[in-house]
Amino acid sequence: MSAVRPTGPLDRVAGAHDAAVLAVARRGEPVARAGLADALQVTPQAISKILTRLIDRGLMAESGSFSSGPGKPTTLYRIVAESRRAIGLHLTRSRLHGVVADLTGQVLDRRSVGIDPARPVPALIADLAEMARELARHGRGELLGVGVGMPGPVDPVEGVYGGSASSADGWRGAPIRALLLEELALPVHLDHDSRAALVGESWSQPGLLDNAALVLAEEGLGASLRLDGAIVRGAHSQAGEVGHTVVRMDGLPCPCGRRGCAQAEYLAALEAGDQELAARVLATVVLDLVRLVDVDRVVLGGRAVYAHHRVTMEAVRAALDEGLRAEARLHVEVLLSTRGIDLIAAGAACQVLEHEYGLPTALVGPETG
Ligand SMILES: [Zn+2]
Repeated sequence: MSAVRPTGPLDRVAGAHDAAVLAVARRGEPVARAGLADALQVTPQAISKILTRLIDRGLMAESGSFSSGPGKPTTLYRIVAESRRAIGLHLTRSRLHGVVADLTGQVLDRRSVGIDPARPVPALIADLAEMARELARHGRGELLGVGVGMPGPVDPVEGVYGGSASSADGWRGAPIRALLLEELALPVHLDHDSRAALVGESWSQPGLLDNAALVLAEEGLGASLRLDGAIVRGAHSQAGEVGHTVVRMDGLPCPCGRRGCAQAEYLAALEAGDQELAARVLATVVLDLVRLVDVDRVVLGGRAVYAHHRVTMEAVRAALDEGLRAEARLHVEVLLSTRGIDLIAAGAACQVLEHEYGLPTALVGPETG
């Protein structure tokens, strides 16, 4: 990506240790050297070196001490949340929602404006840049970059919006990352809305969502996956795109060319005011995902879910209870995202943080550029 520093293998190991300490500290409670040594399975001496590095960079600080008996008191350390910031933008066909977040992913401020889908790309980029500049005035700490989350298809490596086949889609092929980077002179990340959302949820709750799916219902229906601790992208960055899996043979026609796609059936049910049917479609998608990729947590989010969250949660839990009844050892927890309308924008900001301070991808999978 745009802001990758050249790193050697040793840097990667050091980076992984730093990231692991930050992940523990991000949970909120002040931490002691011994606790970190336990969590990371390294010696307290190694932890001292890591902490010195993080304190030098202003990412961690001492946070008092306590005595639990005779001898030297134990020093505590905390993450310096205000030391870094990232901006996240959530772009849809009708709206731009932006947040600025601190190092822990907590939202400091937010903005929202309407967007005309016919807006030409240069004007759209100017809108994105203006919102980023406004948000940058809030909080202090080094501004690391701007993340953009939007409905796919998106090529996150090239930073290009793939767009729909519709000739009315004037944003199709727009190199959003390059244009915005030129405008702001800051690192920019572009990704699918659902993937940004999942990175955000994982960043705020490190370790909780190592095998998880995030199912997003906004103007469409999508999902993203994190398996064995790594975000899954797939050959065309489409992994988890459940919206075009079929839930009804010979069902409603879908713009993709097939019939009975989950997204077409879901949106039609909502349109008809049949929230229970919509919830059952979503529940089918969730159960199929659980069966296919074996996750133990499913996070539901997006405006359509929030609008009907009770009926949706009930339908999903009922489908999982019934669908997995024969296998008692398969336990799947269903959660509603706690981020509300900030979900994708906050996630996009967290993708910037993750890129800078997350576990280096080279240790868990191929470097994506
Ligand atoms: Zn389809």
